[in-house]
Amino acid sequence: MNTDNSKKIYEKAKKSIPGGVNSPVRAFQSVDKEYPIFIKRGSGSKLYDEDENEYVDMIGSWGPMILGHNYPKVLEAVKRELEKGTSFGLPTKKEVELAELVKSCFPSIEKLRLTTSGTEAAMASVRVARAFTGKNKIIKFEGCYHGHSDSLLVKAGSGLLTFEHQDSNGITEGVVKDTITLPFGDFEKLKETLESEKDIACVIIEPIPANMGLIETEMEYLEKVREIIRKENIVLIFDEVISGFRVSLGGVQKIFGIIPDLTILGKIIGGGYPVGGFGGKKEIMDLISPVGNVYHAGTLSGNPISVAAGIETISILKENPEIYENINKKTENLVNKINELIKKYNVPATVNYFGSLFTIFFAKEKVKTLEDAMNTDSEFYSIYFDTMLENGIIVPPSKYEAHFVSYVHSDEDMEKILTGMEKTFEKIAK
Ligand code: PLP
Repeated sequence: MNTDNSKKIYEKAKKSIPGGVNSPVRAFQSVDKEYPIFIKRGSGSKLYDEDENEYVDMIGSWGPMILGHNYPKVLEAVKRELEKGTSFGLPTKKEVELAELVKSCFPSIEKLRLTTSGTEAAMASVRVARAFTGKNKIIKFEGCYHGHSDSLLVKAGSGLLTFEHQDSNGITEGVVKDTITLPFGDFEKLKETLESEKDIACVIIEPIPANMGLIETEMEYLEKVREIIRKENIVLIFDEVISGFRVSLGGVQKIFGIIPDLTILGKIIGGGYPVGGFGGKKEIMDLISPVGNVYHAGTLSGNPISVAAGIETISILKENPEIYENINKKTENLVNKINELIKKYNVPATVNYFGSLFTIFFAKEKVKTLEDAMNTDSEFYSIYFDTMLENGIIVPPSKYEAHFVSYVHSDEDMEKILTGMEKTFEKIAK
């Protein structure tokens, strides 16, 4: 496969952009590749690079592309909006429409604030939780990722795990001290911590973690987390930036029937354009400026283009519930067939999945914890990445991320993925 143009662009990029990429998860070092492929365009389930190679896209922009790239109706909505101007520094009617639409899907959200990214939404949620409770510390879980604000970059997942620095430099000791990290899934540790530490403002959690690879959370664990926190003056924050509108219209909370106090959203609510949002109980959200004194703002928060794309995307999902059936079924079928291949070739691989998200881990046993994920075989993952790429499929360039199945992935795409998997297992089995 010829990727000379990507290579040339990367040589240039390195000179003007750190590492040649604007987000570390786009780099290919962790899968033993010298340079990433540079994407020229996307259409439906496919991406095309600067050398005109075509790939079945399993990254889906890390989540937003539930309808694939440039879904015609979303594109039309954006084009209509573009004609009217792109940012005004004043409110628009459509922001209200999007807030109402989100509320109609997430009953736990009484009020919603839009941001430009999931990072900002998570950062502001923590701030408002501190103001609401009058307490300082936060609890997060190792391997969960909530964007790149200082207090949430402690023992974080995603790119931090990929590049083996779970904490970022440049964060003060004071900030780190106020973030307590606990192993995901270990309820006893949470219980002990809540008994001994009384200055906890919030517990923030990815209900289905997707940033240490996908972890299949047990519902009972989340129920117990909800219950114990209800008894204290602590805000429970569900980070549904990935899972919101992905695993169901109402996210994980709808499927499990577990209601957080605040929810963080992003990705799909902007239909592929920059966005984030956080919302929840009125009494918490009304502490935000200009009603209360918790400051949160943004020049491009709720910008008309993202809002138009978000309204169109969510409306399509809401009016066509068969979309969820389609993507969930497609994923389940794919995972079943991958499992058959794993058996056939007797390779140390295992798949976790939930809805239309899945991760293939190279390990003998089921992956249930961050430690399990870290112990999976990185070399085999690199062979997998490489083989898939050679066969025209782009999968996450890290063993710690999820694959995303979209509505427009065709049967042919699924067959292609399975062929790539089979070729990978043939190599590994040798
Ligand atoms: N929360 C979760 C669960 C995420 O996966 C991400 C990004 O991948 C974020 C928050 C941060 O969102 P953004 O990249 O839009 O800042």
